Amino acid sequence: MTIYYSTRNKNHRVSSTDAILNGIAPDGGLFVPEIMPTLPLPLEQLVTLDYKELAFHILKVFLSDFTNDELRACINAAYNDTTFDDALFAPLKQTDGNYYLELFHGQTIAFKDMALSILPHLMTTAAQKNNIDKDILILTATSGDTGKAAMAGFADVPHTKIIVFYPKGAVSPIQERQMLTQTGNNTHVIGIKGNFDDAQSAVKQLFLDKKLQQTINELGYQFSSANSINIGRLVPQIVYYIYAYAQLVQQNVIAVGEVINVSVPTGNFGNILAAYFAKQMGLPIKTLLCASNRNNVLSDFFNTHRYDKNRPFYVTNSPSMDILISSNLERLIFAITQNNDVQTKALMDELQSTGTYTITPDMAEKLTDFYAGYCDDATVLATIKDVFLKHNYVIDPHTAVAQYVYNAYKNETNDNTPTIIVSTASAYKFPNTVMHAISEDSSTDDFYLCDRLEDLSHVPQPFAIEQAKNGSILHDTVVAVDKIYDSVLDVLK
Ligand SMILES: *Cc1c(COP(=O)(O)O)cnc(C)c1O
Repeated sequence: MTIYYSTRNKNHRVSSTDAILNGIAPDGGLFVPEIMPTLPLPLEQLVTLDYKELAFHILKVFLSDFTNDELRACINAAYNDTTFDDALFAPLKQTDGNYYLELFHGQTIAFKDMALSILPHLMTTAAQKNNIDKDILILTATSGDTGKAAMAGFADVPHTKIIVFYPKGAVSPIQERQMLTQTGNNTHVIGIKGNFDDAQSAVKQLFLDKKLQQTINELGYQFSSANSINIGRLVPQIVYYIYAYAQLVQQNVIAVGEVINVSVPTGNFGNILAAYFAKQMGLPIKTLLCASNRNNVLSDFFNTHRYDKNRPFYVTNSPSMDILISSNLERLIFAITQNNDVQTKALMDELQSTGTYTITPDMAEKLTDFYAGYCDDATVLATIKDVFLKHNYVIDPHTAVAQYVYNAYKNETNDNTPTIIVSTASAYKFPNTVMHAISEDSSTDDFYLCDRLEDLSHVPQPFAIEQAKNGSILHDTVVAVDKIYDSVLDVLK
């Protein structure tokens, strides 16, 4: 039985179903397993499993209060040929000694689909198991990607409703069309007259509003959150690191037991934390490369042992990593204090009040499995171009950040360990940046650029692009920030 407890108070212990339904602990801490599970089968066996079978074995040890049938039903609903366009779900592509783990074959062509396609099913199953008679209401503020991925995951899942708030005019045209063409009777998209922070703060207020809570309960709903601190998002991400390892074995790059590295483009520290968990479970990972863009709060943290969010915020060409508070880092902090909840809470309180904290030398010693670096916008363009010219393979700007940091690591260390470059988005999701890097085309029409990208890359356009281009606009609500409360009630009534 895997029990979860809060990183800020170990006496707060819950089952995996409660952890999934609540998202965050009442003290503001994050749920972590009291005892980290080990790999559930010998590595020789794990590397022979297909994606869904592997997912079953990994989910089973983390979500131990689900039955086998429940887990299999969730996995089948999440990973199939209507939700993914590649039979391997997370294929590993080789180009002359580079290994790209393509995590963008889901409905929104970015890696968040890997977890958001299964989270709704885990949530509704958890609600049933806990005899909750209310429907689940998800409220999410998005800067563009998460909202669409969450809607695609929750669309038409019975007993759920999702409302996504986005800053009107501050997301890319493709991102906006992707959201506004979203189908499903239970999905709602609302534009906010303001920026992302306005939308995010307003949604946080809604969650804290006791009166709204009571009203939505009376209407038959209870709040839940789909954000990346939910263990229902973290655990499914562990699966593809083991699957990547398995593919390196099958492609005869490594023998079972040999080590690999992973390079992960990092924002909220969710994806790379899953790799760290996989390592803790026993997967032979040597170094975890934490790759940031110009918002390099994490690479500074790993290199100076001081977290400092008091710095300018930059809008970059890898926008899904534009973030100054990496929420999931709290779980790493907890691990390197050797599960000390008091010490973790003190550091997080300090972050809250001053925007900074410094870890102790004892804690820093436990970070030797990490290497961290960052990459600015111009280097992202140069890296996309370089990979295209050398390997005839087109990577997206986020993947380029991971590629660049890996190149720097290799130059610095001469480490020849096979390294997985975690590819978090399709190049088609960022046609403007990508085409600027690899061609002379100066058009700013995203759909035109997608056609040209197809000519250059010979990779067929994913269905997501066609859908965004040709789908009917199904949502048109735009409200002022102070009307967000009423807009929720309008949707529910
Ligand atoms: C969300 C996202 C990231 C960052 O992942 P984290 O888990 O937040 O570190 C990187 N690339 C893309 C394309 C994303 O959508």
